[in-house]
This record gives sequence, structure tokens and C-alpha cells, in this order.
Amino acid sequence: MKPINVTVWGEYRHEKTHKAVSDVYPKGMHVTIAEGLQAYPEFAVRTATLDEPEHGLTDAVLNSTDVLTWWGHMAHGDVRDDIVEKVAKRVWEGMGLIVLHSGHFSRPFKRLMGTDCSLRWREAHDKERLWVVNPGHPIAQGLPDFFELPEEEMYGEYFGIPQPDELVFVSWFTGGEVFRSGCCWHRGMGKVFYFRPGHETYPTYYDENVRKVIANAARWAAPTLVSQFTRSANGPTAPLERDRVTG
Ligand code: ZN
Repeated sequence: MKPINVTVWGEYRHEKTHKAVSDVYPKGMHVTIAEGLQAYPEFAVRTATLDEPEHGLTDAVLNSTDVLTWWGHMAHGDVRDDIVEKVAKRVWEGMGLIVLHSGHFSRPFKRLMGTDCSLRWREAHDKERLWVVNPGHPIAQGLPDFFELPEEEMYGEYFGIPQPDELVFVSWFTGGEVFRSGCCWHRGMGKVFYFRPGHETYPTYYDENVRKVIANAARWAAPTLVSQFTRSANGPTAPLERDRVTG
């Protein structure tokens, strides 16, 4: 069977400057996320980072990517306009996009959502409990009714996103807040999944349930389009039933 080509994109800046982050992710968060996916034989996984030429997202890489995962935080503004547009165009063509944690403010996500994507937050070692609110959804397969992360950053509502097409997880935090933490959208022929956990100072991307969610999401977001269709031409479309059309 043809593998699902996943490109794991990481900003990879915190790990170079913050010891608290490199202590948790010595090889970089993107490598840890990639290793989680590599445990599943159906994925062919590679990584790309911000400071590589073209952020590691050359046309050749993007055009051969079925699913792109995105983690960014401190340098959203350094992502080039043309790369943002290319990512959006690939999603409209059918590429899957999985946006992780602080990627809620990333330029590709905001471009595809069209809203401010803001939220409430607190870094105070809250416990996060993620409830499955759509147990029949492919992204929830194999998960318990809920799972917990002992320490995470809190994200709370209101989350400034368009109404998700499908909601898979809702999180509760020890501070009392709730958050729509697993959200699906369709954009063009592509699928977008936002998954909340993953603050850089916590070992979230080693968690087995988190890894299962990301793998399920990569399977769900992989392109399913097999038929070809003709895009609208610039000029008018010829009628199929000529005898019924005048002019
Ligand atoms: Zn964070």
C-alpha cells in the first residue's frame, strides 16, 4: 500500500534558546512528533524547520506531502508570505493540515480559518482532561472516554475560530476553564485538524494518547480524492443540453 507522506514542520527556535525546552526535547519537538508517527508503518515521515531554506517547504516537498503537521510559537511572523500561500493552496488541493497547540496563531492556520484564532491562556501547570465528544469519529478511534495530561498550559474559551465542521475533543482544566481542543474543518478539498495540547516545556508529545490522536488525525486528513475533475474555465461554460439553451 502507498504510504501516507507526512511532513512534520517545527519552528525549532525554543529548543535552541530555552534550556527548559531542550531538556524535554533534546532533538527538537519536531523530531519527537515525527518519532511518534514513525511507530505506525503506514506513514513515511520527514521533518522540516523554519530556518531551513524556504522553511524546509520547497515546492518539491509540499507537492509530495499528503499531510503537514505544524508547531510554531515564538516566530510566526518569520514565516514567509509565499510559503503561507503555498500551504493554503495545497490544502485547497487536498493536502491535510494538522495544527498543534500554539499553531493556533500560525499564519497558515489563520489564513485558512479567516478569523483571529485568539484564546484565553495561563501557564500554571494545570492538569488537562480531554473528553472524547465524538466517539464515532476516526480521530477518536482506540482512545478511552477521556485522557489526562498531568501538566499543561491552559487554553480557555472563547476560541476565535469558525464553527468546526466536527468537534472531537473538549478539554477541562483544573482552573475550571473548558476548550474545544480537537476541531475539524474542510477547506477546499483538504482537511484541517487543530489539536490543542503541546506546550513546549511539557513532555506532551511523548504521551501515548497524544501520539495516537496525531496518528489518527494524519490518517483522517490524508487526501482521499481519486477522481479528476475539470476546474471552471475563465470563460463561460458550454451547456450540456444545447437544445434547451438559447443565446
Ligand atoms: Zn504553549
